[in-house]
Amino acid sequence: MLILELEKILGIATDQTEARMYDQIIFEIGAKGRQGYSLPKMTIRQKPLEKIIPKRFLRGKPAELPEISEPEAVRHFVHLSNKNYHVDKGLYPLGSCTMKYNPKVNEDASRLEGFAALHPQQESEDVQGALQLMYELSGALCEISGMSAVTLQPAAGAHGELTGMMIVRAYHEKRGNPRKKVLLPDSSHGTNPASSVISGYQAVQIKSNREGLVDLEALKSNLGDDVAALMLTNPNTLGLFESQITEVKKLLDEAGALLYMDGANLNALLGIIRPGDLGVDVMHFNLHKTFSTPHGGGGPGSGPVGVSKRLMPFLPVPQIEKKGETYYFNSRYPDSIGSVQAFYGNFGVMVKAYTYIRLLGPAGLKQVSRNAIINANYLLEKVKSAYEFPYSRRPMHEFVLSGDRQKKNGVKTLDIAKRLLDLGFHAPTVYFPLIVHEALMIEPTETESKQTLDAFADALLRIAGEAGETPEIVQKAPVTTPVGRLDEALAARQLQVKWVPES
Ligand SMILES: *Cc1c(COP(=O)(O)O)cnc(C)c1O
Repeated sequence: MLILELEKILGIATDQTEARMYDQIIFEIGAKGRQGYSLPKMTIRQKPLEKIIPKRFLRGKPAELPEISEPEAVRHFVHLSNKNYHVDKGLYPLGSCTMKYNPKVNEDASRLEGFAALHPQQESEDVQGALQLMYELSGALCEISGMSAVTLQPAAGAHGELTGMMIVRAYHEKRGNPRKKVLLPDSSHGTNPASSVISGYQAVQIKSNREGLVDLEALKSNLGDDVAALMLTNPNTLGLFESQITEVKKLLDEAGALLYMDGANLNALLGIIRPGDLGVDVMHFNLHKTFSTPHGGGGPGSGPVGVSKRLMPFLPVPQIEKKGETYYFNSRYPDSIGSVQAFYGNFGVMVKAYTYIRLLGPAGLKQVSRNAIINANYLLEKVKSAYEFPYSRRPMHEFVLSGDRQKKNGVKTLDIAKRLLDLGFHAPTVYFPLIVHEALMIEPTETESKQTLDAFADALLRIAGEAGETPEIVQKAPVTTPVGRLDEALAARQLQVKWVPES
């Protein structure tokens, strides 16, 4: 940094200087033989590696590793992280994905040696604390959701859906007929139809009504004894509470079908309503969304599944149970769908969720959802004069705007999203749910202050203004980011991590 400044002052800085300082890949930094540490000379006799590890497991030639000093490594990665946008840097208003701030104390807890150094092959007598944590986390999730039992095995939301649909299938099979179809509202998350199809069902779309809720008539006309379940997100992806859910449940009961609830949006419901009390048969949680685990970039996540009493026999094994003061694994469930994950799931994520839940307690969790709802509605009120708001029911923790008005001036929702980057914000979810044209799906979450919400609202209002007066500014965005508009398909296939000076 300093060298670059100096070279700039002296007028000898070139594009290459800049490239060297900021954009080299790690293999180009450093020099042969440079190391990140210095250790005293060994005083014990070295044993050849071949004597310890069978030859067939040894490398033929040394691994090609970067040879750099510790400060070079630190600077390289801090520099990369600065280029990145993340929830520790600013608002991340992705609708549906709940990117909220994750308290650091969760990380401290998950890194306690007693947790982090466990090995999954240890005997259960030796890992009683970990089993207790999983047992109590399942119990807390049951209490929060009103479900009868919870498995912690699935590694993400979509994996939870798959597990849930396998349970649905096992239930119907046990009664003699697995059935053929799963019904899904047209506002459903893309993973829902995918999970239904992977579980061997035909996915059938149900229209939403003009208010953005499940259309009961459309539901009735598709229900029959070949329907295994309805997969409902609640609040749905428009951020609307499915207020007819008890009516929906009655219709499903009459057809012998089950109610699956996609619980990824539980951030709106904590302490306010319990899916189990609404008659939900099976649901998944997203610990990495609602219960504050860092996510994005591929995980790890955790997608526990909760079931009602009649589905308990089909849960994955092993289950964690308690007798007296002892926790143990129980696999003796003949109707179980089997195991869905290596060992017991992503334990570190469970520790974070457990810490978060214990820290907040029932009153704190309720306040989380109340604040999430208040924040979304505050933001909506500030911006809704400038954008179309197609479903006018009061939303819960997120809302969906349409960029249709801006599109008339040639400014697409994609342009609006890119312009937000110039103004220092991450973009919201765009073009989802599919039933809203030019959708902008915004979830501010409860962890944002009024000042941040005001600044984000100002940015959205400013862009709406620009779309009317200087659309080319929005169309050209972003101009302040390390790269401008990429061909996204090509960029994903031909990864170019090296900075090349523009000619
Ligand atoms: C995020 C999400 C999922 C999928 O969860 P993953 O952990 O990303 O697999 C499913 N449904 C809804 C509504 C979601 O928001």
